[in-house]
Amino acid sequence: MQLDLLSIAAHPDDTELTCGGTIIKMAQAGYRVGLLDLTAGESGTRGSREIRARESARAARVMGLAHRENLGLPDAGLEHRRDYKLKIAAKIRELRPHTVILPYWEGRHPDHYTAGQIGYEACFLAGLAKAPLKGKPFRPHKIIYASMYVPSLRPTFVVDITGQFEEKLKAILCYTSQFTVNGDTQNLFPSRADLRERVGSLGRHFGLMAGVRHGEPFVTREVALVEDVLTLPVKSI
Ligand SMILES: [Zn+2]
Repeated sequence: MQLDLLSIAAHPDDTELTCGGTIIKMAQAGYRVGLLDLTAGESGTRGSREIRARESARAARVMGLAHRENLGLPDAGLEHRRDYKLKIAAKIRELRPHTVILPYWEGRHPDHYTAGQIGYEACFLAGLAKAPLKGKPFRPHKIIYASMYVPSLRPTFVVDITGQFEEKLKAILCYTSQFTVNGDTQNLFPSRADLRERVGSLGRHFGLMAGVRHGEPFVTREVALVEDVLTLPVKSI
């Protein structure tokens, strides 16, 4: 298999929440887009492994994915273990994505930032000829980090998802175990209306930064190299 774009995330629904609009936009543009969920989210308060698997398969159809799979690593237990990194690296060799999206490398939830860190190391390992892995060495051309879970961070760039916002919301709403009809007292599981408001205000926040209605933020480690400054993809000030 040869994917154009692969998003690696800790839990099913992380990709949908942080960069679902970008995923949908790239699939609509005709690219082969895939998702690799590292854990099944089985330690969450709501929803079993089976329920969450059904929900993520439904969301995959909404987003138009060419591929989605779950690596089955322990939820709330992602660590810097060599066997985990090799498992992810084996998938990178198999899926051969041109570009990889990882979760931003810092944050509140240890699974999220650990996924970003071990995902990066796995991309590196996949390219080592002598790594104990099957298949041909392969390293993605580019890694970008989805930073929506760290809204205080200034992104390197924003993707305009104004045209994909409703589809993104539809994909998130596939995870019916993670929200309630009327909301709850602790505000951990938002209601449907709440969810639209939360996803909408974050999208608006990043959209405003770039002069569009809804946007999704990304960070890159590398400085962008530009040949022709007249072709920079920016809105006028
Ligand atoms: Zn998560």
